[in-house]
Amino acid sequence: MAPKHVPMRTCIQCREVRPKRQLVRIVRTPQGGIEIDERGKAAGRGAYLCRDRACWEEALAAQSLDHSLKVKLTGAVRAELLAFGRALPHTSETSDEKGDAAAPAVEG
Ligand SMILES: [Zn+2]
Repeated sequence: MAPKHVPMRTCIQCREVRPKRQLVRIVRTPQGGIEIDERGKAAGRGAYLCRDRACWEEALAAQSLDHSLKVKLTGAVRAELLAFGRALPHTSETSDEKGDAAAPAVEG
C-alpha cells in the first residue's frame, strides 16, 4: 500500500514534528474563548501540543500557549488545560517499559 499523506504539525512546546492526530489542538475561537479541539476542526487560531503531559505543563509554565495563540490565558483556562494535560500519559517514556527489568537500579 502506498503511504497516505499524513498532515504533520509541530508541538509549540518541544518543537517535535508529529502526525497531526498525535497532537492535541488548542484553539482560540472567534469569540475569544480557548477550547481543546480534539477533532482539529474548530474555527480560529490553533496551537498544537503533544499528547504528553510534560509539554502541557511546560507550555503553561513558559506561557508558550499565550504566545502562540496571541492571547492572555485566564487562570480558569490555565487550570482547565493543565487538568487536561495531566490526564495524558507520558508518551516520551513508553520505550522504557520493556527495558525496565534489564536496567540496573541507580540510587544515591
Ligand atoms: Zn511536545
